[in-house]
Amino acid sequence: MVHFRREKYVNRGGPDGGTGGKGGDVVFRVNPHLNTLEKFRHQTIFKAEDGRRGGVKNQTGRSAENLIINVPPGTIVREVGTGGQIADLVEENKEVIVCPGGRGGRGNIRFANSHNQAPRIAEKGEPGDEKTLHLELKLIADVGIIGMPNAGKSSLLASVTNAKPKIANYPFTTLVPNLGVAVLDDEITMILADIPGLIEGAHSGIGLGDTFLKHIQRTKVLIHLLDGLSSDQMADFAQINTELSLFDPDLGKKPQVVAINKIDIPDVREKLESIKEIFKEKGIEVSVVSTVTHENTKKLLWRAKNLLDELPDVEKEITLPVYHPESKDKEFEVVKVEKGWVIKGGSIERAAEMTYWEYFESVRRFHRILESMGIGDALRNSGIHEGDSVFIGEHEFEWADEWGNA
Ligand code: GDP
Ligand code: MG
Repeated sequence: MVHFRREKYVNRGGPDGGTGGKGGDVVFRVNPHLNTLEKFRHQTIFKAEDGRRGGVKNQTGRSAENLIINVPPGTIVREVGTGGQIADLVEENKEVIVCPGGRGGRGNIRFANSHNQAPRIAEKGEPGDEKTLHLELKLIADVGIIGMPNAGKSSLLASVTNAKPKIANYPFTTLVPNLGVAVLDDEITMILADIPGLIEGAHSGIGLGDTFLKHIQRTKVLIHLLDGLSSDQMADFAQINTELSLFDPDLGKKPQVVAINKIDIPDVREKLESIKEIFKEKGIEVSVVSTVTHENTKKLLWRAKNLLDELPDVEKEITLPVYHPESKDKEFEVVKVEKGWVIKGGSIERAAEMTYWEYFESVRRFHRILESMGIGDALRNSGIHEGDSVFIGEHEFEWADEWGNA
């Protein structure tokens, strides 16, 4: 604001126009209760509020609230166009500022100095940042289910996750059919991944996609499911573990909860004790479950959950980057066009945006910025003439060299 104090008996007071408030930041925040990007189907434009105007008596305008957009854990944010990754949002309540709000323009009180005690100059607020973003949800499974083909991995996933219909509804991930959210109780959920392709794919030499690989590498605990109907569970167990390690050594090291499936079948029941014994000799405790009758499946999940809780939380150590869009900001480019000269660059375009072109002082200040950034020299070196048109963002003005030196 441009404003001067008005007081009784004081003919003309000093400048007292305050600075405008800061615009709100647009922020993504991880909300662990979300597991889809569904809401972005309905709303695709998000805008934080502007800051309030500065006031008289050097009152700073109120800053706008930040706009918080909740996203599920596992959301990857990329900038459309460059494709650059802005954030990989994993940890609960983690935030990333995707578009910082502009700072408030300074009021005329801030432009007063010994030479000019009554500045009629203020700044417009800095324009907010604007971005087009691409969101991708990479659900992070806590637990991967592994085992031989037919062990019952898919059945287990279907029987313990309440999300069967919902799973088919995830249009945002290619891993759709293999993921589910298990509800252990009101507060505790666990994301399970059925990992069929791993062994079956490795077997037949079918390459697995990068995303898929990344996904299972992020699981922390594995449920190793054994087929009760198989003739040799220990052989199956060893084979899967070998292939797992061959596929990715880190996967082979992940802690496992071992379970024998299909105990609803009498033949399987009969062999249970002897199978358990064989594993016990190797120091491995096995659970016994049926995905058909659901016997012990919940217990199995709790075993996995407890193991999960014992692990150090690796994800929490990941520090997420805050996106700073200003790094290349001071760079500029001078392009000769038919009509004159175009100057491109984040910083200078913003300075132009913040200038009150109708005020001489404000314009002069803009010219000083132009010079301090070296743009004046760049223009002169390119052969600009007095009176040539210069275009910056939306603005056009005539080049006048002595202004630059003012
Ligand atoms: P996957 O290849 O490991 O994913 O195994 P599936 O989940 O596709 O199951 C293979 C077969 O075993 C299917 O015919 C299932 O119906 C069957 N099956 C899975 N779990 C059980 C179980 O607990 N009891 C019985 N009787 N059959 C099961
Ligand atoms: Mg399967």
